[in-house]
Amino acid sequence: MNIHEYQGKSILSQYGVAVQRGYVAATPDEAKAAAIKLKEETGTGWFVVKAQIHAGGRGKGTVTETGSRGVVLAKSIEEVPEKAQAILGGHLVTLQTKSSGKLVSKVFIAEDVYAPGASEPKEFYMSVLLDRGLGRNVIVYSPDGGMNIEEVAEKTPERIFKEVIDPLTGVNDFQCRKIAFNLGLSGEAFKQMGKFVKSLYAAYLGCDAAMFEINPVLKTSDDRVIAVDAKVTFDGNGLFRHPDYQQMRDVTEEDPIEVEAGAAGLNYVKLEGNVGCMVNGAGLAMATMDIIKLSGGDPANFLDVGGTADAKRVETAFRMILRDPAVKAILVNIFGGIVRCDRVAQGIVDAYKNMGNIEVPIIVRLQGTNAVEAKELIDNSGLAVHSAITLQEAADKVKEVLA
Ligand code: GDP
Ligand code: MN
Repeated sequence: MNIHEYQGKSILSQYGVAVQRGYVAATPDEAKAAAIKLKEETGTGWFVVKAQIHAGGRGKGTVTETGSRGVVLAKSIEEVPEKAQAILGGHLVTLQTKSSGKLVSKVFIAEDVYAPGASEPKEFYMSVLLDRGLGRNVIVYSPDGGMNIEEVAEKTPERIFKEVIDPLTGVNDFQCRKIAFNLGLSGEAFKQMGKFVKSLYAAYLGCDAAMFEINPVLKTSDDRVIAVDAKVTFDGNGLFRHPDYQQMRDVTEEDPIEVEAGAAGLNYVKLEGNVGCMVNGAGLAMATMDIIKLSGGDPANFLDVGGTADAKRVETAFRMILRDPAVKAILVNIFGGIVRCDRVAQGIVDAYKNMGNIEVPIIVRLQGTNAVEAKELIDNSGLAVHSAITLQEAADKVKEVLA
C-alpha cells in the first residue's frame, strides 16, 4: 500500500527523521492558513506548494487544466493560495502517471528549504528496501539525487551505492560514515547524515515498510540533513499490525477494479494484455500467465480467486475481468484440490447464464477432484465455453480463439 508524501513525512518525523515541514490543505484558504502557521513556526517567508498524488515526477509534471507544475515555489504568503488554486482540482500528468493524469485533491504546503547560505544546498538520493536476492535490507543511495535518478541509474550506475544491512546489528556506525563519505559530506553535515540514516532505517523497520524512497534528501546550506520528499510503501502483509496506517489508505489513488476485487476477497492485478485469467492459487496464476505468454498471448490480469471458488466468487471474478475492455478471451484455470471441480464448473455455468450475453470466448481448464464430471458439465451446458484438459491445450485454444 502506498501513501502520500505528507503522510510519509509524518511517520518519518515520529521516528526522529528530520523532514521538510509543512501542512496539508484541500482548499486555497486552507493553503494560506498553512503558510501562516508555517511562518510562525519556522520563520520561513518562502514556501513550496506540492501536489499530493501517488506518483513521482511531480516537480516536472504539468497540471493539464492550468499548465502549473506539480511542485511550485511561492515567494510570499499571498502567492500560496494562488499557486494552490492552480493545482487543486486539476489533473497532474507526470512520467509516472497515465496520460490522463491524476486528480489532485490535496496539496502539501511546505517551508522552502533551499535558501542559499553559508554553503550550497545539495540533493541526494536514498532508499531503503529489501534485496530479495540477498535476503537483506539494503540502503541504496547516490550523491546525484533530485529529479533524475532513473537517468543516473542508466548512464552512471557507478554513482549509485548500496549498503547491505545485517539484521542482527542493524545499521553500524561505520556504515553511516561510509555513506556520509560517499556523499561527499564533512563536518556537521557528515554527523547529521549518520543520524538521518539511522532514524530512517528505524522508521523503515518500525512500520513494516516494503520501501522507503527519499529523493531528494537535502543537505541544507546550514548543514542540516532533511527529507524533502517521502515515498513510503507498506508491506500489505504487515499492515494488520498498524491500524493507524490502514487509515492512511487513499482508495481514490488505486485502480477501481483492484479496490473492488480486494473488497470481494479476490487478489486482482491489472495488466496490459488481452487474455483475462481466472485462477486459484498465486503460483498457478503465475504459471498460467507464463504459458499464455509462451503461446504468444498476453495476460490482461492476474487473478487469484482463492481456495473457495464457489459460484458467487466465480461470477464476481468474471464481472471483474469483463470490466476491462481490453479483454478478448478468458482463460479459467482451476485446480480442484480443496474445492471440487464440478462445483466450480457449475459456478461457471451459473455465472455465465446469470450474466447473459458474455461475448468473449471462455476457455476452461479444470483439473483435480471430479475433473471428468466437470468437463462433462461444461460440454453439456450448451454454452460457448471451451473446455481443455492440459494447460498447453488451454493455451493453444486461447491462441485459436484470438486468431
Ligand atoms: P517529485 O518531483 O514528485 O519527486 O517531488 P519532490 O518532492 O521530490 O520535489 C521535486 C523538486 O522540487 C525537488 O527535487 C526540488 O528540486 C524541488 N523542491 C522541493 N522542495 C523545495 C523547496 O523547499 N524549495 C525549492 N526551491 N525547491 C524545492
Ligand atoms: Mn522526489
